[in-house]
Amino acid sequence: MPTDTAPAIVGPEVDHDSAPFWAALGEHRLSLQRCTACQRWRFPRMPSCPYCGTDGGEVLDAAGTGTVYSFVTVHIAADPAFADAAPYNVVTVMLDEGVKVLGGWIGPLDVAMQARVQATFVAHDGWTSLAFQPV
Ligand SMILES: [Zn+2]
Repeated sequence: MPTDTAPAIVGPEVDHDSAPFWAALGEHRLSLQRCTACQRWRFPRMPSCPYCGTDGGEVLDAAGTGTVYSFVTVHIAADPAFADAAPYNVVTVMLDEGVKVLGGWIGPLDVAMQARVQATFVAHDGWTSLAFQPV
């Protein structure tokens, strides 16, 4: 049965570890963890460094720049809320800080591998998602 409105895009399931990340996106910041011992950045947030095992870590804003590491083009959306957007890309970006993150894509479908990109922030009803665009 047709409807007059598109289905709402469901937001993330926010938990203790991911809440600061999502809150930062709402402030147009890409907030990530960095180990205070080995200085390596990591994503997603986790209680200890996966490289050296040090507990905790500092939370810093990444510059939001990097290169396209990989991408997929979605032709048939798994969620009806994204059906009108298809085809669209989801990208994995290697940030300049040396950590990979996932995001939406704002740009042509023909993505160039290792293209320079900049983070951008997409507002939804009550939450913000991360996306990247070519620079
Ligand atoms: Zn470490």
